[in-house]
Amino acid sequence: MSKDSVSTDIAETVTVCKTIDELNSALRAVREQDGRSSIGFVPTMGALHEGHLSLIDIARQKTETVVVSIFVNPTQFGPDEDFESYPRQLQDDVAACQNAGVDIVFAPDREEMYDETRYLSIEIDTLSNHMCGSSRPGFFEGILLVVNKLFNLIEPDVAVFGQKDIQQVQIIRQMVREFNHGVEIVAAPIVRANDGLALSSRNAYLSAEERTTAPGLYRSLKYIEQQIQSGVTEPALLINHQKDELEAKGFEIDYLNVFSDKTLSPITTLSDDERYILAGAAYLGKTRLIDNILIEL
Ligand code: AMP
Repeated sequence: MSKDSVSTDIAETVTVCKTIDELNSALRAVREQDGRSSIGFVPTMGALHEGHLSLIDIARQKTETVVVSIFVNPTQFGPDEDFESYPRQLQDDVAACQNAGVDIVFAPDREEMYDETRYLSIEIDTLSNHMCGSSRPGFFEGILLVVNKLFNLIEPDVAVFGQKDIQQVQIIRQMVREFNHGVEIVAAPIVRANDGLALSSRNAYLSAEERTTAPGLYRSLKYIEQQIQSGVTEPALLINHQKDELEAKGFEIDYLNVFSDKTLSPITTLSDDERYILAGAAYLGKTRLIDNILIEL
């Protein structure tokens, strides 16, 4: 690509690092040679879509150098989950990062990140008792493990996560507080398709028919949100009704409820000085969809 064809605020060439040594040299180069001090970090599992790109955009606005990790992290998948079939498309992802002005892509192999035997793990006290944590044992522990490692390797000033995975953001915020990581955590709004479906790499699993049904989850959340905003303080019946409607459409509900944004526990009665997370997870066929809306009364 010629210099003239690239706008000046877009990185001309993204540096792709497969190893920790390569990552260290690339980080050293931007820090020492280019004198760029602030680092923004966007961790991903690849199969990048507009949601990921919105996170990269935020990181670019806030920091001088943007690092994106692309790593399908084995420790956050359960034995019956989709680790093997998870979409992997590194070349396309690197091209998308290049277009988005990313400076460094870190795409390690499993062996680069994990020894065969691990003797330590991170335990989560109560924040993973509900929502996705209750149906995916070990999921958030696996995420904390890899994010902790990535924060130690990259030492970012800012890390951007999607509100789509709201429980992940809240648990990572807690890890940053308790482990004294010197990083600012930014939660980015959910990017949706025109029909409201939250973008997700897993949407690729949906059949054409399931794809038409899928926005129903967000529609139910919107309906419950409207009812709460117009005065419903005990939404249990309303939520049960929406669950029935979704199940009639073919969804298999994992959870649909209002949770405290601090404790991530279910809430039965809402009061007007709290912030809540109205969240749902449901299967359509073999695809697990999640979505949420933040509620401030
Ligand atoms: P993943 O590759 O699915 O692990 O996601 C990487 C990051 O992108 C996470 O912080 C996600 O929350 C975020 N993300 C995924 N989908 C969206 C979306 N539709 N809108 C905003 N952020 C998203």
